[in-house]
Amino acid sequence: MSQMPPPPAPARRFRAEFQSFDETADGSAGPARLAALRAELERRGVGGYVVPRADAHQNEYVPPGEERLAWLTGFTGSAGLLVVLPQVAALFVDGRYTLQAAAQVDGDAFTIVPLAETTPERWLEANLPAGLTLGFDPWRTTLDGRDKFARAVAAARGVLVGVADDPVAAIWADRPLPPSAPLRLLDPALAGEDAGAKLERVQAVLAKEKVGGALISDPHATAWLFNVRGGDVAHTPLPLAWSLVPAEGRAQLFLSPAKLSPAVREALAPVVDIRPEDELEAALAAFAVGRALRLDQATAPVHLAEIVERAGGTVAKGADPVSALKARKNAAEIAGMRAAHLRDGVALTRFLHWFDGAAASGTLTEIEAVEALETFRRETGQLTDVSFPTISGAGPNGAIVHYRVTRATNRTIAPGDLFLLDSGAQYPDGTTDVTRTMAVGTPSPDMRAHFTLVLKGHIALARAVFPKGATGAQLDTLARQFLWAAGLDFEHGTGHGVGAGLSVHEGPARISKLGHVALEPGMILSNEPGYYRTGAYGIRIENLILVEPREMAAGGKSFLGFETLTLAPIDRRLIDTALLTAGEAAWIDSYHARVAASIGPLLDPAARAWMEAATAPLE
Ligand code: ZN
Ligand code: ZN
Repeated sequence: MSQMPPPPAPARRFRAEFQSFDETADGSAGPARLAALRAELERRGVGGYVVPRADAHQNEYVPPGEERLAWLTGFTGSAGLLVVLPQVAALFVDGRYTLQAAAQVDGDAFTIVPLAETTPERWLEANLPAGLTLGFDPWRTTLDGRDKFARAVAAARGVLVGVADDPVAAIWADRPLPPSAPLRLLDPALAGEDAGAKLERVQAVLAKEKVGGALISDPHATAWLFNVRGGDVAHTPLPLAWSLVPAEGRAQLFLSPAKLSPAVREALAPVVDIRPEDELEAALAAFAVGRALRLDQATAPVHLAEIVERAGGTVAKGADPVSALKARKNAAEIAGMRAAHLRDGVALTRFLHWFDGAAASGTLTEIEAVEALETFRRETGQLTDVSFPTISGAGPNGAIVHYRVTRATNRTIAPGDLFLLDSGAQYPDGTTDVTRTMAVGTPSPDMRAHFTLVLKGHIALARAVFPKGATGAQLDTLARQFLWAAGLDFEHGTGHGVGAGLSVHEGPARISKLGHVALEPGMILSNEPGYYRTGAYGIRIENLILVEPREMAAGGKSFLGFETLTLAPIDRRLIDTALLTAGEAAWIDSYHARVAASIGPLLDPAARAWMEAATAPLE
């Protein structure tokens, strides 16, 4: 008789608290809601209406009461725009969402228009009946957005009007109330600069640009400026708030009084006047008289620009003055980001070790992988949220660039699959964003070749040395050159800015063909080239990188380079060493040696043994 196998270890319990796998919106109510909106528009004498997927701050994540598009149509994607005309309601979605939108909305009521085919503006030029009045929401439309619509509507010989009293809210009976999470003070040791000093720097910029002040509409900017955080939206510790910063004198911060404790109010009182949010319009009108006021044309609402103009002020369009200052992290912010990345690297490596065993069974699903990773992160004791919903894509799902797993799409990770996992964490001291692609079973030669081309691009960017003043657009090519040489490419930017304990997507710099802002020391960006074979697999390798000065022996010009912040093994089984130069192989070995030295001491013996093998030098 053969011996009985030992009983299996009890399965670990994993769960996700910060992301869900259910589709919450219900498209079946769409036709009735659309009819109600048309009736409401008719009552107001407006022929058509534009419904953006935006709140008044143009946030990436919006509170439930701002999910107009999802409520009206059933479409839950993170970007989209609906144009309602008397005979047609066109839902514009980008390539990530064409299939999802078709599955979620009622196809008789709504026409899905892929943005790859036409823009809303071109569509309006062709479809807006001459003489029709098209309404837009001046709170949730930016100056740039309004100008684009205005040109299109004029070309169609229609009339564009702002509809100040939101007609969607008028028909949305059980609309959720605005959030009012408590405002909290950021630990001064993490901020590294007090709000008074930051305010002085912003005021110096305003004086130099000869404007009387700035309306700060981006809550990330307000959070950074006053060293505060909140919890009004998912995945980013933001307070929904506005601030008004004069070139000289006291700044004003506008937010719901329900968010303020007496202690926080008292702590902020020396640097800023705190006022209820509903006083913003009156305060702005009073301040604008005879002044030029900076409004960010890409995020500020048309409504507030019109208040400035009606009061006799002028709108000085331009970039938010905080954005460039916030992007250059100070020493305390960089230290926080390093600590967050060390902690996150330990959690991710514990996950990778677990995954290697669990995926071999051939029964693990994409959702279980997300639940496990979040659990390892939660076990750090410091996880406050995930920085975005995890992208967990096995096999062909990995080739969908912004794939989000749901109960309906959940795939079992099978032997022979590549598994792409793009995830991030919010900790009190920093924000992370990391992608690893893992082989399950034996990868094909094509998988290894493509992975290695992506890796060579990742390494080229990580090792890049470039003169001060160089932009992300100049560097983007470095990450693509090996794919291009093989006749391949990827359809997304190579890197985006990342905030320190703020948004995982932060401007103004980025590494893409659209990245025209110079990189500066202290900026943190992602390095995430990829390759996607539709219907088969996706590959992406993502680390965060910090811009820092480089001493070059030649002298003269100032040069910059990157330090990689992310610490986690890159799957050696997917590397075809024959395709690497000696320098590239040395980069991988030294990166892995750094991973092993920094996170090894923080791992339990089993995970550490696995990690040591996973980070051993390439052969
Ligand atoms: Zn990512
Ligand atoms: Zn990223």
